[in-house]
Amino acid sequence: MVPVAASMSLAQFQSAIAPLDVRRRLCPPKYARRKRLAHAGSRCPLCSIAYDPTTSNGPNFPSLASLVHTSLGGPLTVDNLFVCCRRCQQVRASTDLLTVPNLPADLAAQRHAVLLLAQNHLAPLPPSTTLAAYRSALAQRHALPRSRVYAAQADDGSCYVGVSSRYGDTQSKGLARLLAQVAGTPLNKSPRLTVYRLEDDAFRRVVWQLIEANAWVVGVGRRSRLRDFQDYWWLTSASVGELRLRKVAGVQVPLNASRREVGPRAMRQRKLVAERRAKAQAKADVLFLKQAEVDFDQAMGRLRDQQAMGLPGELEETRYYVNRYWAAYSKVHGQAAMPSLNQ
Ligand SMILES: [Zn+2]
Repeated sequence: MVPVAASMSLAQFQSAIAPLDVRRRLCPPKYARRKRLAHAGSRCPLCSIAYDPTTSNGPNFPSLASLVHTSLGGPLTVDNLFVCCRRCQQVRASTDLLTVPNLPADLAAQRHAVLLLAQNHLAPLPPSTTLAAYRSALAQRHALPRSRVYAAQADDGSCYVGVSSRYGDTQSKGLARLLAQVAGTPLNKSPRLTVYRLEDDAFRRVVWQLIEANAWVVGVGRRSRLRDFQDYWWLTSASVGELRLRKVAGVQVPLNASRREVGPRAMRQRKLVAERRAKAQAKADVLFLKQAEVDFDQAMGRLRDQQAMGLPGELEETRYYVNRYWAAYSKVHGQAAMPSLNQ
């Protein structure tokens, strides 16, 4: 679990990285390998050809394979291993298991379970995606070697991103270029470690850009209070899309609070728009009042003429125009008492 950090200095960040910056172990432990090989079965689950355990260098010899390759962040556990024939293993190499045609359903399910435990960013694709589209997205995602990026986000807003060049993580020129582009000038640059210091907002943007670019983000410090899904960057088995769908194994991520700061310029703009709208409304109200006054006068005139001729007159119609006029009048001049029709 990524530790909570109240504050962090450059020295603290460097010392937090030191124990993690070791050669990445890619081989699962012996007991795990032995356990899987002991329950190998008799046929390869991928090509259904019977194993030939007699020729140890033959293509049908049972061989261990990982569901999510450890170089792509797969865990070094028994769950991540399965047995297939040597030919299938060599053809597949480190590509994602989903790129294998006719993958059995139980292996696909096991792969999904392992992926949630892996330091592996899920491809942010909807469930309706076709297998072909999924495969090409995965191939694109894993086209470049994965490099580790160390990241820390402290409660006081001091955030760091560091790339070590010590253990095989230097080969990614793309990552170095991306970091220089998105994170600006490094705070500390030595042959071993390049550290960028970022403000909270910039950190959230950069760290998710790195995750989307398939960098292996290793958290060395995180906030104690998590505001929205963007603060869950250290849950690196998930992409932003997965977090937004609240689908990550057992994790309830608060929905985006979307409390975007409104700058002074945007504030002025909003005020101006509101003022203009109010002015236009007032103008329309005055125009409407003039029309209502004319209609009211005409209706009253008609009523007077009819009453002069000894007829009862269109009382309902007149009442409608009176009401309309008084509503318009009180909107422009404030509340006024309703006149009685008989006056
Ligand atoms: Zn096979």
